[in-house]
Amino acid sequence: MYEFSLARSMNNAVLSLCKKSGWSRVRHIVLKIGGLRKVNLELMAFIFDVISRGTKTEGASFSIMSLPVIFRCRSCGRDAPSETTEFACPLCGSRDVELLCGLELAIELLEVEKEQE
Ligand SMILES: [Zn+2]
Repeated sequence: MYEFSLARSMNNAVLSLCKKSGWSRVRHIVLKIGGLRKVNLELMAFIFDVISRGTKTEGASFSIMSLPVIFRCRSCGRDAPSETTEFACPLCGSRDVELLCGLELAIELLEVEKEQE
């Protein structure tokens, strides 16, 4: 299940940041996800809720910043955002394209609480 591995790796990444930075709790997580990654957000939120129990991310909410799919076309030389996941230039239809943006997957922002001194 894609959402499971995604939620788990996100949680692990956040927890290791907590350890390094001395955060006691994570309140909110913003994820940056490229448009070519099809993620079921409801499913992911459910899985995250389960795997974060008992950890510093328990109860954290998260939101997704969706990034557009952008192709660079080698035929017409233009960069264009695509509405579909098809590997073709949205402007001239050529399949000689390079993906500029769309597969991103990163933690963009965290809202945390610091450990009390
Ligand atoms: Zn083109």
